[in-house]
Amino acid sequence: MEQFDVIIIGAGAAGLFCAAQAGLRGRRVLLLDNGKKPGRKILMSGGGRCNFTNLYTEAAAYLSHNPHFCKSALARYTQWDFIDLVNKHGIAWHEKTLGQLFCDDSAQQIVELLVKECEKAEVTLRLRSEVLSVSRDESGYTLQLNGDTVRAKKLVIASGGLSMPGLGATPFGYKIAEQFGLSVFPTRAALVPFTLHKPLLDQLQTLSGVAIDSTIEAQDGTLFKEAMLFTHRGLSGPAVLQISSYWQPGEFVTINLSPANDLDAFINVQREAHPNLSVKNSLAKLLPKRLVEILQEMKVVPDASLKQLNSKQQAELVQTLHQWRVQPNGTEGYRTAEVTLGGVDTTQLSSKTMEARDVPGLFFIGEVVDVTGWLGGYNFQWAWSSAWACAQAL
Ligand SMILES: Cc1cc2nc3c(=O)[nH]c(=O)nc-3n(C[C@H](O)[C@H](O)[C@H](O)COP(=O)(O)OP(=O)(O)OC[C@H]3O[C@@H](n4cnc5c(N)ncnc54)[C@H](O)[C@@H]3O)c2cc1C
Repeated sequence: MEQFDVIIIGAGAAGLFCAAQAGLRGRRVLLLDNGKKPGRKILMSGGGRCNFTNLYTEAAAYLSHNPHFCKSALARYTQWDFIDLVNKHGIAWHEKTLGQLFCDDSAQQIVELLVKECEKAEVTLRLRSEVLSVSRDESGYTLQLNGDTVRAKKLVIASGGLSMPGLGATPFGYKIAEQFGLSVFPTRAALVPFTLHKPLLDQLQTLSGVAIDSTIEAQDGTLFKEAMLFTHRGLSGPAVLQISSYWQPGEFVTINLSPANDLDAFINVQREAHPNLSVKNSLAKLLPKRLVEILQEMKVVPDASLKQLNSKQQAELVQTLHQWRVQPNGTEGYRTAEVTLGGVDTTQLSSKTMEARDVPGLFFIGEVVDVTGWLGGYNFQWAWSSAWACAQAL
């Protein structure tokens, strides 16, 4: 039976980084993954360019039942630390928007960085490894693999969340938590497009592919100002993905379709200058023409000229365009979600080391933990920071 100091389950962002850091500290590390290659989600991330961190990383950009938990790790291994590592590997990057850093070339570079760091640290990486069982005694953990038994004093669970089952996501980490008596908060797909109820979907169908600037507000008052995209299933784009993390089934979201403009003032100015212009054509100066046409078909935009538009109609129109209330039917679910909300209850983990308080030697890092970031590089930064904090304790 092979003996290691540390076994890490999951060669994704958190597992690869933790393995490298622990290896560089002289630990004999075995890194296991069920997939054919490491870092599969990294390769898919950021549209193939990996949004690897965010310049404005702070605890407020994370959702958790315990919002303070992420602070320690984020402060000890920061976005600047990861940027230094990216620079050290000569990877060119750029800020796209809102502090989001992407590789100039390819997400593959981030996987190569992590794999090189693991090689330097002499980590043993075993792919296509199924963990059949995990047991614990006073001296550590024994894992039955397909065809092998391995042991280590310490076990790190970095098996991620449930999003994108096609990329190897499994509930393994939650099951291990429960096996060792830790509680797990119910999970939910997040950073995920909304689907719409049939009547509205049918009305909006031909807008598929149209994007607009928007603000979207959830019922709890959380608001994001980013682009929104109409799709053939419903609504997507950064603003929608962000707000999906704050939305509960059955709730409404309030969408401002023209956040940069005061539409009431705009219509008044337009009426003065072009009283015979149709409301539709005047709004088409600010909004995509197709959207205005559909809104007219939906009777939101009156079929009238500006001089015919009475004050009650104008007030209703402006109200709807600035505060369009939409009740999503649901989300596209784990199939397309970028992350999973919920997970291992952080009150049972040390925020300094990620070790389970009552189960010595068992650690949870990355997305399996109940810490979920906004869109924009925050989730990878949590993977790096939690992995680094854990590695210092291995
Ligand atoms: C399409 C997409 C794009 C994204 N883009 C970004 C982005 O640009 N920026 C950002 O910050 N975040 C992004 N995210 C989120 C980010 O990928 C995750 O938050 C991050 O990968 C979590 O890291 P992790 O190591 O905890 O889990 P993962 O990276 O998911 O790694 C978990 C690993 O565990 C393995 N595993 C699972 N179960 C088992 C098991 N039973 N046995 C063995 N191995 C197992 C999996 O195969 C996987 O390799 C994106 C997510 C998706 C799906």
